[in-house]
Amino acid sequence: MSHHAPTLSTDFLQFTLAQPKTIAEPFSFSISNHTDVSVWDTGVIVFEPRGWPTEEVHNIVLSSAIHGNETAPIEICNQLITDLLTGKLVTSQRLLFLFGNPPAINNGTRFIEENLNRLFSGAHSVGDGLINAERVRAKKLEHYVERFFLEGHPDAQRWHYDLHTAIRGSKHEKFAIYPYRHGKAYSGEQLMFLAACGIETVLFHHEPTTTFSYYSSHQHHAHAFTIELGKVMPMGHNDMTRFIALKQMLTRLISGKDLQLAPFSEAGLHLYQVHRSVNKQADDFEFTFANDVENFTAFPKGYVLAKEAGQAIKVNEPNETIVFPNANVPVGQRTVLCLIPATNYRVE
Ligand SMILES: [Zn+2]
Repeated sequence: MSHHAPTLSTDFLQFTLAQPKTIAEPFSFSISNHTDVSVWDTGVIVFEPRGWPTEEVHNIVLSSAIHGNETAPIEICNQLITDLLTGKLVTSQRLLFLFGNPPAINNGTRFIEENLNRLFSGAHSVGDGLINAERVRAKKLEHYVERFFLEGHPDAQRWHYDLHTAIRGSKHEKFAIYPYRHGKAYSGEQLMFLAACGIETVLFHHEPTTTFSYYSSHQHHAHAFTIELGKVMPMGHNDMTRFIALKQMLTRLISGKDLQLAPFSEAGLHLYQVHRSVNKQADDFEFTFANDVENFTAFPKGYVLAKEAGQAIKVNEPNETIVFPNANVPVGQRTVLCLIPATNYRVE
């Protein structure tokens, strides 16, 4: 390593942002003979308790900055990393922290050239191939997650929480997207853990996607979620008191304490399934509601949601609840997801 290279003290974010594209070479060290630490790449750090991994040692991936301007998750993860590096927090689990897109963090933007969270499950290499830094990074992130899971005990649990904040406000401040399960049951333990973290709203997705969480769920059978923690704020302007429950539960999980989760009950949870995805058919597509409408706003049956090509698109269920509206997409792509309360879902 060159003597000009930054050194890692206790601030892994600072270390990462000083060399956003790559580090000189991977390196390892240990903390007080109880934890092995490996830095695999810029923004990629692994913590492992000493000894061969057993079935009881979970393999946990916490990713943030897949969108570079979503700062709250970056700050939460960096606090946990600092607690681990200083020995304030001692891990009982194998942990992989990922800062997804360091150049975009430095830039203060969602991405540089392409939305990283549309590039997983091989999408990075489709079409024009590895033509930009986000595509190259997506392929590497897949590789790091695969390597991390394969180096753990084969029967141990695999978790991946991909942490985000949303562009628009939300009726439910925090929510999780449960990637499409291909008919498999949902995990009651995971739903109760999320609720204990203050994430009581979960959207059961209805089809495969090119998101990071679907990749870990589908390729590696991980308990994986895209987690939205509130609204985007500039770095240092997040109200960290909004994340106390999340940080407490992650700390319990990491340190191997009993999670004290109640058995699964849907009381207090808001579980949604996709009723339909409204795709754009014509260039003049427009929503009738205001631009700043919040996610999880419900509309009554018969309400005109949007207009295009002289036709009205109406709510066709007693209550349809919208998320991720965006009229500025190419014809053929999704403009909004319409949700209804989840029914007939299977939890184990
Ligand atoms: Zn995001």
